[in-house]
Amino acid sequence: MRASRRLFLLLLPALLLFSSCSRRGEEHTVTFFAMDTVMGVSVFGPDGQEAARAVQAELQSLEKLLSVTDAGSEIYAANHSGGAAVEVSEQTAGLLSRALELCESTDGALDVTIYPVVKAWGFTTGEHRVPSEEELSGLLERVDYARVQLDAQTLSVPAGTELDLGAVAKGYAGDRAAALLRARGVESARLELGGNVHVLGAKPDGSPWRVAVRDPDGEGYAGVVEVTDRAVVTSGGYERYFEEGGVVYWHIIDPRTGRPARSGLRSVTVVAPSGLLADALSTALFVMGPEEAAACWRSRQDFDFILLKEDGTAAVTEGLADSFTLSGDWAGRALEVVRRD
Ligand code: AMP
Ligand code: MG
Repeated sequence: MRASRRLFLLLLPALLLFSSCSRRGEEHTVTFFAMDTVMGVSVFGPDGQEAARAVQAELQSLEKLLSVTDAGSEIYAANHSGGAAVEVSEQTAGLLSRALELCESTDGALDVTIYPVVKAWGFTTGEHRVPSEEELSGLLERVDYARVQLDAQTLSVPAGTELDLGAVAKGYAGDRAAALLRARGVESARLELGGNVHVLGAKPDGSPWRVAVRDPDGEGYAGVVEVTDRAVVTSGGYERYFEEGGVVYWHIIDPRTGRPARSGLRSVTVVAPSGLLADALSTALFVMGPEEAAACWRSRQDFDFILLKEDGTAAVTEGLADSFTLSGDWAGRALEVVRRD
């Protein structure tokens, strides 16, 4: 059993208690397991319970399309077709075309075909190992998002190449959920999709949502950001990792080397209106490191970031300078404000 699933089962009684208590007020919370993680959907206002259940159904059906391990999924079919083209749903095609664009615009720091390398390190099974340079260079020959062909809803993945949308799927799920809730007239909701948070509108009292950023070195929080109508997505070296010979190896891979990205960062939090963009960029900026991340931010207008660095300092883009504060063990540490000019 995966550790995350075990944790879910352990927490289940507390989660159920939480959802039944919250039903008394205007808040309706549904908690479920999807995309290999625990998801919590809290909807405020009338019909919230029904809306939250609709989100659960939507995200569980999305998982069935996108899972890399479920033999019934569209991604699995494309990965196991021996290079032959397969037809995919509009949803999968829409997500994939935007994900491929983001691979390109991040210069391959995000690469949705890195899966064979992630498997070699054992991050998919928990049977961790350090692959040899030779093995990694052989595997990297199979990695290149540009070889994935998508023409409308026809997808071809060359034999040997494997597509995995794990770095972007939860962000996209947040977008789908937010759109579904908006269409139902919901004005205030908070979605916790694994490490991703996606908030709709403001809190019912009109104040912004407060979203905590985890302390990468401990159990607590390193800071809090106040947002409305935003996705807040963190990629961190502390999420999945193992240690061997005194070295820590984590699950975010630099596609140039096939090795865990060591760019001076402990975590990257991206705040953006789009969950897909926030998820794609949190992974990509972690690979890039602080300087390239700042350059990427200056080249676009659609996101902000918070960096927690290995040297124990932090950086935040100017759009969040007034809404982010360091806390816990990070309170009082140096916080650089990254500006456009
Ligand atoms: P995230 O938690 O969103 O940063 O996504 C990390 C997951 O995406 C990892 O567990 C891998 O399965 C996969 N991954 C790792 N490195 C990359 C990368 N450079 N580009 C795309 N996916 C990656
Ligand atoms: Mg991501």
